[in-house]
Amino acid sequence: MFPLEPSPELLEEALEQMTRFVREEIDSLHRQPSADVEGAEDLARTFVEGPPEHPQPLQAILERLRPAIRKTFNTAGPGYLAFIPGGGIMSAAIADFIATSTNRYVGVRPPSPALVQIEETAIAWMARLMGYPETAGGILTSGGSLSTLSAIVAARETLLPEDFSRGTLYVSDETHYCVPKAARIAGLREWQIRRIGVDGRRRMDVKALARVVDADRTKGLRPFMIIANVGTTNTGAIDDISRLLAVARSHSMWLHADAAYGGFFRLAKTGPDLMPDLEECDSITLDPHKGMFLPYGTGCLLVRNPECLKRAHAMDAEYLHDVRAQNSPNFSDLSPELSRDFRGLRLWLPLVLHGLDAFREAIEEKLTLTRWAYEQLVADERFEVLDEPQLSVIAFRLKVTGADSDRFNEDLMLRVNRRGRVFLSSTRLDGRYTIRLCVLSFRTHMDRVRDAVEALQAEASVVLQSVAS
Ligand SMILES: *Cc1c(COP(=O)(O)O)cnc(C)c1O
Repeated sequence: MFPLEPSPELLEEALEQMTRFVREEIDSLHRQPSADVEGAEDLARTFVEGPPEHPQPLQAILERLRPAIRKTFNTAGPGYLAFIPGGGIMSAAIADFIATSTNRYVGVRPPSPALVQIEETAIAWMARLMGYPETAGGILTSGGSLSTLSAIVAARETLLPEDFSRGTLYVSDETHYCVPKAARIAGLREWQIRRIGVDGRRRMDVKALARVVDADRTKGLRPFMIIANVGTTNTGAIDDISRLLAVARSHSMWLHADAAYGGFFRLAKTGPDLMPDLEECDSITLDPHKGMFLPYGTGCLLVRNPECLKRAHAMDAEYLHDVRAQNSPNFSDLSPELSRDFRGLRLWLPLVLHGLDAFREAIEEKLTLTRWAYEQLVADERFEVLDEPQLSVIAFRLKVTGADSDRFNEDLMLRVNRRGRVFLSSTRLDGRYTIRLCVLSFRTHMDRVRDAVEALQAEASVVLQSVAS
């Protein structure tokens, strides 16, 4: 029996059980398969049940939870090279445990000024790392999707406050799907989202953009926002921000950088050169749950002018009058949320505990590992590598001609994944099936990237034999 308010002894015992459980999960991560969803739907059905009328012991619940955690894509493990990994550092989990255990209120400032300041300071660090001036501000969100939504609403309210029915927004063909989704939620119609083509390195075609913006203005439309990619999900492509800025400035448009994946590469030695003028963008999406290795649910939106965020989100409510801060904006004035978790601690505590260099070194290592894997694949004539990696994604195919090329490439990826050491994902580029390998988890080191290359080479031989026969 575990009462809502356990005795100190019971609580301690439960914490020990929890600690043992987590330790077993983390210690075994390296041995766990990179993905295992065989029978996962059957397992899922065992969780379809009525509300529990009777208490159950914690140990039994943990034992029930364990297979649910294991029958998954192992997104925390070192072999996860699919989509955009991150891993989830334990120091953030410790911060979360403290934050939720002590459960103070951070939606507005006066109830917990120092805690709110911790989060504001962590946001200011993010702004500093991206090269923003001290006057910049921002908000921690649940992820890139919500950051993008708030950025679009901020741009809309700043530039078209009265009527956005003729407003148009510009994205490239490589934009993340959360951008048009956010635009739709923000009230834009499909036709108001203009898709611009990309060049050979999958960066937005700036000349085409300028032409379309001009044409739209001639038609009496109101171009108000450009969304640049700083690291596309498909291939890690980085748009030419300097040239996009020129277009944005000449038409008084808002330039937003979707740096959800790519932003933290600015911490690498070559980082600022990879994304020149990032600091000139009006707003930046960052996903600390990717490049800072935090657990899922940690996004960040930075804005050069915090007043714009406030204009888009601040409301008045009578019953909040005695707790609204007058001088410093409340988080609830800068985002759609009011009550929410103290996610700032999840960002602040790891930074002070590990220091910035730990993150710089980890991100640097990812670039080195990617470069190594790229060189191996380029040296192997059986592979067609689409482009030199701009960040830590490699997109490639097995060279197979003919109509079944896609099928053989899919076969190759599935064979590599079935080995259980690494897990890759795929996309379609130029209408063709393309395998992606993305190195971003802090747990991924040389041994695992070598496994990935070896698995690809060995399975390529098997697949090519089946092509020949
Ligand atoms: C991950 C990602 C997003 C979406 O962010 P979520 O945190 O998943 O909501 C947007 N843009 C890019 C480039 C991304 O990699």
